[in-house]
Amino acid sequence: MDNLIEYRKSDEEIWIEEFEDWVPQRIYDSHIHMINNALIEESSLHKNRFPDTPLNTINKWYKTVFPNRDVNSLILGKPLIGTDINAHNEFIHKEIKNNNLLRSHRLTTPKDKLEQIENDIKEKGFQGLKVYRYVSSNGDINECNIDDYLTHEQMELANNMGLWITLHMAKQDGCNDKENLKNLTEYTTKRYPNIKWILAHVGRSFTYRPIEKAIDTLKNLPNIWYDLSAVTDIRPFMTLFKNENLKRIFYGSDGIESVSFHGAYTAYGHFHYQVAIDQVESLNYSHTSNRPIISLYEQLLSIKQASKFCELSEEQIEDIFWKNAVREFNIDWQ
Ligand SMILES: [Zn+2]
Repeated sequence: MDNLIEYRKSDEEIWIEEFEDWVPQRIYDSHIHMINNALIEESSLHKNRFPDTPLNTINKWYKTVFPNRDVNSLILGKPLIGTDINAHNEFIHKEIKNNNLLRSHRLTTPKDKLEQIENDIKEKGFQGLKVYRYVSSNGDINECNIDDYLTHEQMELANNMGLWITLHMAKQDGCNDKENLKNLTEYTTKRYPNIKWILAHVGRSFTYRPIEKAIDTLKNLPNIWYDLSAVTDIRPFMTLFKNENLKRIFYGSDGIESVSFHGAYTAYGHFHYQVAIDQVESLNYSHTSNRPIISLYEQLLSIKQASKFCELSEEQIEDIFWKNAVREFNIDWQ
């Protein structure tokens, strides 16, 4: 399919060996993006960096990577630099408006007007917001606080409307950053008790540490959920499954281009890096006939292994893969 994924024999084989009998028949993917390059300005470094991914491309990808599974999803606005925000949200709305099993979160920046956000929620069916550090008003895309990329006026609106917010936390310690934890505690317990937060990438825990340190605080906060997207290290999953309420966990892929490469988001101590193994200069296969698999399957392997160690039941695995999303997003999936 186009140039989005090179699905190899090694991928097919690992699906059959590990996932065919383990991944539930239904999947609700709570973290997937649509891309439309026509809506990104010419001068942006993100223009044409990734292929377009409208709904039919996403569905083709699901057929490839999740063979014989029924998949629906929560579509998130894609925060690429130079994106025409309103046009992007309109694009998502048009793509999915005829399918009542899909949900979407509106790409939202600190500059977006409250009336526009409210109107999109009411008229275009967005159930929440997708915010991102790239548009931080403090000018630092790495070390910024939640209210640098989501204003308090916007949080007030979200609170009044009871919206979901998918939050990819900034700062190198992710969910364990002192300021992030302090803010989340204040927002969930005092200031904005009706906002429902989805902490993307296990609270941005690509290594063991952020979630291990933060879980004792997070598990006691109301209105916190997690998506499992993109993480490929088993340790954050083990910590989450062992300590959290399993009803607060959503499966998510972070497809398409971010997880279709052969490789993983590998942890090295407290450092993590997206390693596309084909691009590693010293790569050779002289020692083995085994071959790398796509990052999406590295994630599934880690989820599977963690769920075994934590002795999750089949029912609990189904909760994570689709039932939690169906319940929380009020989806009528018969
Ligand atoms: Zn994402």
